Amino acid sequence: MEITRYKSNIIKKEYLNSDTILLQLEKPKNYDFKPGQFLQTIFPEGKRSYSIFSKPSDKTLNLCIKLFAGGLASEIFKRIEVGEKITISETMGHFIITEEDVERTYCATGSGLAPIVSMIKTALEDYGHQSRMYLIFGLRHEENIFYQEEIEKLAKKYDNFHFDITLSQPNENWQGMSGRITAHLPEKVLNKKNNHFYLCGSPEMVKDVRKLLIENGMEVKNIKFEIF
Ligand SMILES: Cc1cc2nc3c(=O)[nH]c(=O)nc-3n(C[C@H](O)[C@H](O)[C@H](O)COP(=O)(O)OP(=O)(O)OC[C@H]3O[C@@H](n4cnc5c(N)ncnc54)[C@H](O)[C@@H]3O)c2cc1C
Repeated sequence: MEITRYKSNIIKKEYLNSDTILLQLEKPKNYDFKPGQFLQTIFPEGKRSYSIFSKPSDKTLNLCIKLFAGGLASEIFKRIEVGEKITISETMGHFIITEEDVERTYCATGSGLAPIVSMIKTALEDYGHQSRMYLIFGLRHEENIFYQEEIEKLAKKYDNFHFDITLSQPNENWQGMSGRITAHLPEKVLNKKNNHFYLCGSPEMVKDVRKLLIENGMEVKNIKFEIF
């Protein structure tokens, strides 16, 4: 089946850390999506998928893109400037939340945060969910951290939302949590059998967290994931 394509204007490009950008695109008319879905950016040389970082109710479409040296899309996004247009597809994917107000745990590494921000903000700001929500965000070093202030603001405003950052290779002055996501999950969430899990990011994190959850009796149908 033919995918619907749209031309979209770049409104803003901002570095969130040294190799991650926020790309804000004009939202095509009647462009609907569910929190957690992705779109494809279509170039003459090929297509690449990007999760939507903004909420369905937002006026713009935001993407959060990690730039890899020599990557096809990465090199285009390094050069691209505000005012240029790119071709995007309709939205796709089943890594989504519903309007059901249930307890949710989110595990993200790196740019895997993108769909999860859309889910959490939609649940808190638009669906008005009251159930406990917990995000654990895994990165390597302090320099890799991004979007921390915005997440902190949400956690201050909404009592039911909590989050932690854990660094796998912190500098010696780091005061926060360290180690992999799997090192912290047991104490945080594994006693709650009705929890729904959303994992997004590196293949290793998704594989290891999923294994740990299943070993601890979590229901497979309640573990959703997307691998970048
Ligand atoms: C459903 C889905 C949603 C996605 N959403 C996002 C998103 O929101 N944000 C985002 O940044 N990415 C996302 N991705 C990944 C994205 O589609 C591209 O794969 C990524 O941007 C690299 O594309 P590229 O053309 O720059 O690199 P490519 O030309 O595809 O690869 C070139 C080289 O870059 C390096 N490289 C590429 N990807 C990785 C990687 N994951 N880890 C380590 N090295 C790598 C490798 O050395 C590779 O040989 C998503 C992927 C999927 C499947």
